[in-house]
Amino acid sequence: MEIDAAREVRTTCPYCGVGCGVLAKVAADGQVSVRGDPDHPANFGRLCSKGSALAETIGLDGRLLHPEIHGRRTGWNEALDHVASTFSQTIAEHGPDAVAFYVSGQLLTEDYYLANKLMKGFVGSANIDTNSRLCMASSVAGHRRAFGSDTVPGTYEDLERADLIVLVGSNLAWCHPVLYQRIAAAREKRPEMKIVLVDPRRTMTSDIADMHLAIAPDGDVALFTGLLAWLGQHNALDRAYITAHTTGFGQALFAASALDLTSVATATGLSEDELGRFYSLFAATAKTVTVYSQGVNQSSSGTDKVNAIINCHLATGRIGKPGAGPFSVTGQPNAMGGREVGGMANMLAAHMEIENPEHRDRVQRFWNAPGIAQKPGLKAVEMFQGVADGRIKALWVMATNPVDSMPDADAVEAAIKACPFVVVSDVLASTDTVRHAHVRLPAAAWGEKDGTVTNSERRISRQRSFLSAPGEPRPDWWIIAEVARRMGFGEAFAHETPAEIFGEHAALSGFENDGGRDFDIGAYAGIDAEGYARLAPFQWPAPSPGGGTTEQHPTRFFANGHFYTADRKARFIAIRPTTETRTTPDFPLILNTGRIRDHWHTMTRTGKSPRLSQHIAEPFVEIHPLDAQHHGIGDADIVRISSPRGDVLVRALITPRQRQGSVFAPMHWTDQFAAKGRLDALTAPLIDPVSGQPALKHVAARIEKF
Ligand code: SF4
Repeated sequence: MEIDAAREVRTTCPYCGVGCGVLAKVAADGQVSVRGDPDHPANFGRLCSKGSALAETIGLDGRLLHPEIHGRRTGWNEALDHVASTFSQTIAEHGPDAVAFYVSGQLLTEDYYLANKLMKGFVGSANIDTNSRLCMASSVAGHRRAFGSDTVPGTYEDLERADLIVLVGSNLAWCHPVLYQRIAAAREKRPEMKIVLVDPRRTMTSDIADMHLAIAPDGDVALFTGLLAWLGQHNALDRAYITAHTTGFGQALFAASALDLTSVATATGLSEDELGRFYSLFAATAKTVTVYSQGVNQSSSGTDKVNAIINCHLATGRIGKPGAGPFSVTGQPNAMGGREVGGMANMLAAHMEIENPEHRDRVQRFWNAPGIAQKPGLKAVEMFQGVADGRIKALWVMATNPVDSMPDADAVEAAIKACPFVVVSDVLASTDTVRHAHVRLPAAAWGEKDGTVTNSERRISRQRSFLSAPGEPRPDWWIIAEVARRMGFGEAFAHETPAEIFGEHAALSGFENDGGRDFDIGAYAGIDAEGYARLAPFQWPAPSPGGGTTEQHPTRFFANGHFYTADRKARFIAIRPTTETRTTPDFPLILNTGRIRDHWHTMTRTGKSPRLSQHIAEPFVEIHPLDAQHHGIGDADIVRISSPRGDVLVRALITPRQRQGSVFAPMHWTDQFAAKGRLDALTAPLIDPVSGQPALKHVAARIEKF
């Protein structure tokens, strides 16, 4: 590929779900520089520390440069033939459900689209799931229960317009920094804007909060169910909206009414005074946005938490209006794009439903596929259990590192080691997952490949290449298409460019859509190469290529009160909070896992930047002073954190910001970066029963001085 050294290329940051625009440039000496794109509507030129350091993470260090079979370098033809023939043979001998793809929110939409098409339409199984299952599956499930569709109703602009922002389980300052900066800037202009933080920890985000509710772990269902009851008792409901646009309110209120303020206080660990002040503020503020993230989703009650929040917005009619609505922020750069193409085990492409025979028929006809998966496949945790018990005999992992990031990571590693056939396509040669692959396929990295991603506000942006790929790496979509062709599906995978794939994906989204589906970018069907090259960021629904601003087009959903259920009404979900004690005398503390400001996932990229490692150089555990005293731990001591599944060694950080009885440790460090650092070896494969999302924020643990 020819690279124009003088030209800045418009692309998108590959880290979090804010989806910031980046201008990247390669100097004549090969040095790469990046800056925020002032014209991108997600960030208007801002970048956080991770985005600013992107140029430092580019380089050949550690790259997987050539295909390998059993550690032997080979050519693409042999590697692809081997993958295709082994998958075909496994399917022939054991059926389509004996194979699986585990993919990633790091994939571009075009990669994701082809992987999903191959597995669901041509292999005939729905055994494709994604690391986005660990990130926002509970939001998807909650949206679908309430709205009949996986729709994020609002936009980032709504956060700036709100008079009250309630941040639930979200350390926005560190995990979505540019969105945090946008809120901080809006608040500076309108100091009357109020911000409430609901989080067991006093994080950096609390610096901007007017009120911090240091809630007990998993107390969110009680908090918002209690709010619904309180709104009912204080005549703070929008009865006209409830009658016109919703069903199920009576049952939801009845279930909520079982909670009085005293029992909510007990369940949440908050005082009745704190609850009263928060509830009054919520009731009095029409323009309220509730933002939620992993503290809500990564829970065994994650879907109920999402619906408890949405119930309160429906009950007050605060949805689909400027500055009002429930708002899920995704962790990964393309979690939303993955949802759009149906790259999860319980979804079909273009927000269609795998359980719906009409949808299955429609997708099968569109793809001209020999069949279509008839039932949901194995979700992430179940998938690796399927690998462990031998149901899955051939596994392809794309662009993710489950040996470090899955809950119960040691068991996942053992399962992968014992699996008869494991393919990993990745940028790097030595992640803990790549090491166990029988076939390693070198993938093109950020800056070397082209495609699209969708951010948390449904904005689709181009990632564009500005570097030549070193050695033999290829884009993921190319690798998937080549394997599909070799499996005998050449006609359906004849794409030569990502533009062709995007055009097909867009066409499917509009195919036989009479307005009954939310995701529709059919106006971009068959987009040509030039249009794709010039594609500017746009939010769906967009009326025509070129998109438009929020002012020009109705990019906010549900303004008309129409939802995507059969009767067009939103559903209240009746929720009864449950309390679950996971701590035991041996493991008396609750371990909460999460992110820090300057690292990303298992550090395979950010670990390359010395600057990013300066912020926090080693793994740590936050401990409340009284817990530290009780366990005889001093500041900066080396501490062993243990759970029934394993242990890690980390540095003690004693701070009153941490809630007593809980400890917090970041998930990023692996054994590659710190001795005994794999935190997810401690976490349990406990999942939300509706969404299948693991409860990564609530693990019974103990600490001791090492
Ligand atoms: Fe990248 Fe997220 Fe930072 Fe924006 S906020 S620069 S998308 S990591």
